[in-house]
Amino acid sequence: MQAYISGISHSAVDWDSRPSIIVYFAGCDFRCQYCFASEILDFREEFLRNLKDVKAQLKPLSYSAGSVYFTGGEPCLQKPSLTELARFSKSLGLKTGLQTNGSNPNVLRLMLDLNLLDYVSLDIKSPFDENVFEKTTKSSNFFKPTGDIMDSVKESLSLLKGNKKLNVDVRTTIIPSIMFNKEHILRIASEIKGIGCRWILQQFQPNLGKLTNGNMKELNSPSQGFLENLKENCLNAYPELNIEIKTDRFNVLSLQELGTPS
Ligand code: SF4
Repeated sequence: MQAYISGISHSAVDWDSRPSIIVYFAGCDFRCQYCFASEILDFREEFLRNLKDVKAQLKPLSYSAGSVYFTGGEPCLQKPSLTELARFSKSLGLKTGLQTNGSNPNVLRLMLDLNLLDYVSLDIKSPFDENVFEKTTKSSNFFKPTGDIMDSVKESLSLLKGNKKLNVDVRTTIIPSIMFNKEHILRIASEIKGIGCRWILQQFQPNLGKLTNGNMKELNSPSQGFLENLKENCLNAYPELNIEIKTDRFNVLSLQELGTPS
């Protein structure tokens, strides 16, 4: 079996600061304008690897890591290799985490049913409003309109609800001129309030990597004060929410190794 994997690295910053092995699946069905992994969004031949080789690389790394984190790109687009690597990681005694944009609820459901996941980080990139969602994700295509994609993400969100065995984060990036206003954030808050997750408001950072829309490099990051204000507004409306603000340079270590599969 083969998989499009752009890199494998060690990081202590992606998943709750635990030492993790990070596996980057290449290919994504979204084209978020602010995406800093723009160089791995296509299924390019240079990323194609035999799973046997990937497993051989994971095994020694597992001696010094407690977990493996599948990210991308969008890992759920490669169901057979993702489930196989999750199974293999479990057999090595690793905890398993998945970051997903939620567009493939059937893959998420399968992995949950098979007990292949300990942690899920789901991106809720915008409120479920077609205009804002499409502006943020640039995800619609001839076969799948924005409304259908949003329904898939909603389904993924509902799969996480009330799952006591699972650690769940929801992530939303606050991006000037695209996804920043209070009403939008409050609408997301109302969607996730019953999930029992930690909600991470991520600061857009223009210098983390090559952005899908290069013009966005000119934008400033929203300030800490601005993010605190959004958080406060959400907590006033929904005090039960567990909200964290993330402004550090997440993924930096791993990003340096992107595109250099070994
Ligand atoms: S930020 Fe958007 S385009 Fe980039 S990997 Fe995530 S879902 Fe795909």
